[in-house]
Formats: sequence, structure tokens, C-alpha cells
Amino acid sequence: MSLRKLAFLSLFLVVACDQSVTDVPKDEAIAWPVDNFSAVTGQSPIDIPSSTTLKFRSGDPVFDYPSAVDLTSVANTGEYLKATAGGDAGIVIGGKRYRLAEFHFHRASEHAVDGAYGAMEVHLVHIAGDGSIAVIGVLFRTGAANTAIDVLWNAVPTTPRTSRAPAGAFDLRGLLPSSTSPYYTYSGSLTTDPFSDRLTWIVFKPTLTMSAAQASRYADLFKEPNARPLQSLRGRAIYERIGSP
Ligand SMILES: [Zn+2]
Repeated sequence: MSLRKLAFLSLFLVVACDQSVTDVPKDEAIAWPVDNFSAVTGQSPIDIPSSTTLKFRSGDPVFDYPSAVDLTSVANTGEYLKATAGGDAGIVIGGKRYRLAEFHFHRASEHAVDGAYGAMEVHLVHIAGDGSIAVIGVLFRTGAANTAIDVLWNAVPTTPRTSRAPAGAFDLRGLLPSSTSPYYTYSGSLTTDPFSDRLTWIVFKPTLTMSAAQASRYADLFKEPNARPLQSLRGRAIYERIGSP
């Protein structure tokens, strides 16, 4: 290779590496990858490598979260807080509707991004009519108090293996970041028994906050951390939504 060609190639590489996420040309972003997830095996949680994600554009998921969903129960499982949702709140991915079945918390977060964990993580578990599962994960860091968290912490019984049912109306949107556009998605698994894989995971890039007092109140109630250790990627691709089509 001539020096001139080498110089040109180097310049190209520098420009390519310097390209920010939002600069990925529309026709270079890959198509929504979730259709392939049912064929990809692998366990969760994972450490998300933010610098090697494959960028894509999509209008999904579409959130159909009403301002008030009836919680049929808020349970103290003895290990974590788990709330079950009545009604028909859900999300739509690729035209398929997934109904919200339950949500629960992990301390500390299960997913990490570039090795960094959150103080906690909420998992919103959605199940489609064909049995396929899509889980949304939102990481919390310690900061401003979160009113949605107060509602849940006040509702959960202090006695292990008991539940409050019904547990009143709840605004699910309090568990979503203000922007639900930037997220990572990959094919993973349940992080508790039976660890079924081929699930669609969506982990938001923006985090939520809860106060140090809220975090310690939860830790007082659930003393043992309940985060599964990080699992190997084993060649799985991690995708990152960079905007709408
Ligand atoms: Zn979970």
C-alpha cells in the first residue's frame, strides 16, 4: 500500500472513530433486530459494552401505560418487592403487543454499563399472547427522591412472604425515564429460576434517581442483595437505539 493510500485510510479511520452516535447515516443503521432474538441464546444480566453496540433506528417500543394502573398486589417475597399489574398496560414491539404482568426490584442493579452498576434496577416484565417475553430494565442511581418509589415502599408489607392486595392505583410512568428513546436491547434471559432465555431485553440508557433515604429504607426491608452476577456475552450482539426511523 502506498504512503498516500495509507494516509488516506488513516484519515478515514480517524473520521470514522470520531463519528458520534447521532451521525450514523440513516441507511447505515441496521433494521430493528428483535425479530432475530428468538433464535439467540444467552443469559442475563450482562455488562453492556457501550462502545461496541450496533446502532439502529426504530419507533418501538410503543408504550401503552395508562396514568393509573390497578396494582392487584404488592408483595414482600422475602427477597424483593414484586408488584402485579391488573388491566391492560403494555408495550408494542414490531406490531406485537406485550402485556405488563409484573414488575420487581433488584439491589444493586443487575445490568452494568461499561462496568458501572446502579444502586437498584426495576424490571418491568411483559408477556405476549404467544408466550414471548420482553423485559424493560431501568437503573436507579442515588440522587433526588422519587415519588413513585415512595408509593411502592409505603405499600409493601414489612412481613416477609406477605402481600397487600389490592394495592391501589399506580402511575407506571413514574418508573420510566423522561426520555424512553435511547436504550440498549439484546437477547437474554430471566435472571431468576427458571432462567429461560431468548427474551427481549430493553435497558434504558437514561437512569432514574432515588434518594439515599429511599435506598436505605429498601435495604432495611430486604437486607440481602438480590442481583444475579454478570453473565458472559458469548458472542451476542448488543444493539443501541439512536432514534426514530
Ligand atoms: Zn428481575
